[in-house]
Amino acid sequence: MDKTSGIYIAGHRGLVGSAIVRRLEAAGYTNLITRTHSEVDLTDQAAVEAFFQAERPEYVFLAAAKVGGILANSTYPADFIRENLQIQTNVIHSAYRSGVKKLEFLGSSCIYPKLAPQPIKEEYLLTGPLEPTNEAYAIAKIAGIVMTNSYRRQHGFNGISLMPTNLYGPGDNYDLQSSHVLPALIRKFHEAKVRGEGEVVVWGTGAPLREFLHVDDLADAAVFLMENYDEEEIINVGVGEDISIGDLARLVAEVVGFEGEIVFDTSKPDGTPRKLLDVSRLFDMGWRPKFDLRSGIEDAYRWFVENVG
Ligand code: GDP
Repeated sequence: MDKTSGIYIAGHRGLVGSAIVRRLEAAGYTNLITRTHSEVDLTDQAAVEAFFQAERPEYVFLAAAKVGGILANSTYPADFIRENLQIQTNVIHSAYRSGVKKLEFLGSSCIYPKLAPQPIKEEYLLTGPLEPTNEAYAIAKIAGIVMTNSYRRQHGFNGISLMPTNLYGPGDNYDLQSSHVLPALIRKFHEAKVRGEGEVVVWGTGAPLREFLHVDDLADAAVFLMENYDEEEIINVGVGEDISIGDLARLVAEVVGFEGEIVFDTSKPDGTPRKLLDVSRLFDMGWRPKFDLRSGIEDAYRWFVENVG
């Protein structure tokens, strides 16, 4: 990418897209192209085609998606599969047709089998059944990977696919019904502290293991891979370490300054038992995250207090 290349960031108001915009701006890229949902509805094929033909971006970060935590995914699976299939089909096809030089598709670690060996290598894709709580979302993302690779094979289109682990950071969704665990815990512990409540309820047993990546680190990796990676094979993006939900809750409580009790509501689902990515392919290219989990949570908490709390 040249500093003046036209770069379209689909989903620039979301957690990932906004971080990619910040990263590109900081690196001196001056020709960033963005459209809000009301300007271009990415589920509308004709609107997407007209946008690409008029704007002709050279590079595309496909960070637009319908995303949500375990409750949202299990409550609205139809919305998750339909919207994600539509968005990615429209954007990938129009990017190809309008002559985009390279497209980066953002997937998710939930595409891997529920009981994949840990840490999860890229080659474990499609080797076993998925976690039922987010199957619809995962199938849509798998379709996006196969579509990207198929356009490469049939049309020579340069598309790459990144699989980020669980993300968090500035701009996250803090709505308790639809958020992921980390923003939910920040909100719950903060509100309990402010209201002087003695306990916070954490869903599930606390035993599941998850890996967390600060979104600014993901954005850094996304730009790094746009510049340095041209393979068909999907590539994992993570930190290479995981933590139990119970320990995560204790860490968030410490950062927030909540001193009461943590109660586990085992009537809520645990989801997949462990989800740790094998990041050796990315690390072998020389990339490393900058945030450790504590400093990342401190950063996210600062943003929460200033913007939501
Ligand atoms: P997942 O990684 O796809 O399972 O999605 P989540 O980030 O929503 O959930 C991760 C784990 O955290 C699951 O075991 C949840 O049950 C657990 N968890 C604990 N408390 C919460 C909470 O308040 N909100 C959410 N979303 N998950 C929670």
